[in-house]
Amino acid sequence: MNAPQMPPDTARNPLLAEWTGPYGLPPFAEATPDRLRDAFDDALARHRAEIDAIAADATPPTFANTIEALERGGRELDRVASIFFVLAGADTSDAIEAVEREVSPLLARHANAIYLNRALYARIADLHARQGELGLDAEQTRVLDRYHTRFVRAGAALDRPKQDRLAAINERLATLGTQFGQNVLADEKSFALLLDEADLAGLPDFARHAARAAAQERGHPDKYAITLGRSACETFLQFSARRDLREKLFQAWIRRGENGGKTDNRAIIAEMVNLRAERAKILGFDSFADYRLDDQMAKTPAAVRKLLDEVWQRARARALAERDALQELVTEEGGNFPLAPWDWRYYTEKRRKAQFDLDEAELKPYFQLDSMIGAAFETARRLFGLTFTPVDVPLYHRDARAWEVKDESGGHVGLFIGDYFARSSKHSGAWKTSLRDQEKLAGDIRPLIVNVCNFTKPAAGDPALLSFEEARTLFHEFGHALHALLSDVTYPLLAGTAVPSDFVELPSQLYEHWLEVPEILRQYARHYRTGEPIPPALLDRLLAARAFNQGFATVEYTACALLDLEVHGLRDPAGLDIGEFERRELVHIRMPAEIVMRHRMPNFQHLFSGGGYAAAYYSYMWSEVLDADAFEAFAETGDPFNPAVARRLRDFIYGAGNLRDPAEAYTAFRGRLPTVDALLRKRGLDAAVPA
Ligand SMILES: [Zn+2]
Repeated sequence: MNAPQMPPDTARNPLLAEWTGPYGLPPFAEATPDRLRDAFDDALARHRAEIDAIAADATPPTFANTIEALERGGRELDRVASIFFVLAGADTSDAIEAVEREVSPLLARHANAIYLNRALYARIADLHARQGELGLDAEQTRVLDRYHTRFVRAGAALDRPKQDRLAAINERLATLGTQFGQNVLADEKSFALLLDEADLAGLPDFARHAARAAAQERGHPDKYAITLGRSACETFLQFSARRDLREKLFQAWIRRGENGGKTDNRAIIAEMVNLRAERAKILGFDSFADYRLDDQMAKTPAAVRKLLDEVWQRARARALAERDALQELVTEEGGNFPLAPWDWRYYTEKRRKAQFDLDEAELKPYFQLDSMIGAAFETARRLFGLTFTPVDVPLYHRDARAWEVKDESGGHVGLFIGDYFARSSKHSGAWKTSLRDQEKLAGDIRPLIVNVCNFTKPAAGDPALLSFEEARTLFHEFGHALHALLSDVTYPLLAGTAVPSDFVELPSQLYEHWLEVPEILRQYARHYRTGEPIPPALLDRLLAARAFNQGFATVEYTACALLDLEVHGLRDPAGLDIGEFERRELVHIRMPAEIVMRHRMPNFQHLFSGGGYAAAYYSYMWSEVLDADAFEAFAETGDPFNPAVARRLRDFIYGAGNLRDPAEAYTAFRGRLPTVDALLRKRGLDAAVPA
């Protein structure tokens, strides 16, 4: 390759050097905000020089001097950015947030300089036009094709004035996306429901302890605090007998990003939706949704709408039946009020108890965090032969832990880092991220993978106990981690989770199924105090209740997917009032009044904190069609760990990154594409609505 060989100034900034920590970990202790900021400047300049050299190469384009050169470039920038974004998500600060605000438009500008580089695109287009004569193997052909698609979709083939406008749009979107996420976090940090002992009616011990610890962290040792983390919030809504306090908390929860003043996200949303629509138009699409879906497995908004509509009608009918049952319970108890959104979880919990004799507080002692981590590891051992050994290595926060991952013959696979507890320096939600991805181009590079969750941290000396839903989140994120850890590709572009977003949730959601496999639960769901396995009768009741409240869960999610598709399907969003839009669309889809969207627009980080799931929130349900059908491949054999099925799963899904088109990859695994039937069965929406 022809990139200039100037070594980075590692003496000045240790963050630019190759990582030499244990297992190849970065020097977190050196990663101060100032050094990170400086390292970005150096790394961006260096990558820019590499790109310019590739584009200006006087020799005719070859796969090696163009595509491989691109794949080998930007290593310093990869390193700096991966450390930085792990910190910005999981352990941020005012100083990190300031760097993030400065750097995100710089990164967008840098991406523009690459993807709108006409000389570079000419080389790629030339290679793409004569790919048949280049003697490439299947993976190289895929890499070339992906580069070509990416450049075309970014606008590399357009004229200069259009490119200039696209560049300005991309930079502005980056700034707005960063601001959006920081605003949500600011609203979360600034609120806590501070309570006295007398306000805690209905709360089980674990919730009281957690509220006590949260108050202590906030400097109120004699109080109890309910924060706006999803775990803390949902637990309170589920158990608190105080209707007034439930309402107060719920209102704060759904109004994040909608409180007026500096942290209000509504104007940001309107601007982002308009910029996205304009970008799509410049690129020749009717709307942003058309543009986005063109490179997804779903391909068109119509295909997505067909799936969502099919599920929506059934889910809505089921939710209305659930609502009627809850209202009956309210009335039976002498409540003289119509069920409100802040009542749903509370009365659902009572109904669950009455109908299935299931009590979250009775279940929780069996779902200890460490046991559930063990259950996720054991599943990976039985399916893929992986083992996990805890290692003591320096990480970025004392609550983060690491395990070395090995294969069946003892070979090093990579490092898995789990960072499970909520804290005020962490963004809400749960995600998988990478410090380094697998590849073979620059040697046998092993992945360093991070899972971040927001489980409530117990008071010192107490066990960390999860709800069944939280255990499911743990399995979900671990499924993403395995997708990255098992990756077996040569080129970084195709590694691990670098697949379309409506396919990327297949490995994660599929993994959730093993949490419900009775032999895993019998082994790992043990009482934290006695070590006794979960009683068979309780386990039966837990599994019998799987379809319980699925109307609510499906409506809460699908409404978000429908509104996302709608807002990003607008051809001309000028003058968009997002509050008005949300109200109107919810009426249009006939949203039950007792249910609020899982993510309201002003705090919908999937869509607006960056663009990861914009016009793509449907991805979870699209992937669920795949995962429900994929798990049936195991169920059909009568063995949830069937080795032959597991082998195909590893070869074509978990280990295969983006080597193949998703439909092709799925067909290679299953022999055919799925239908929606398995999903409807899984959610219990296939049968008639119960009385
Ligand atoms: Zn996911």
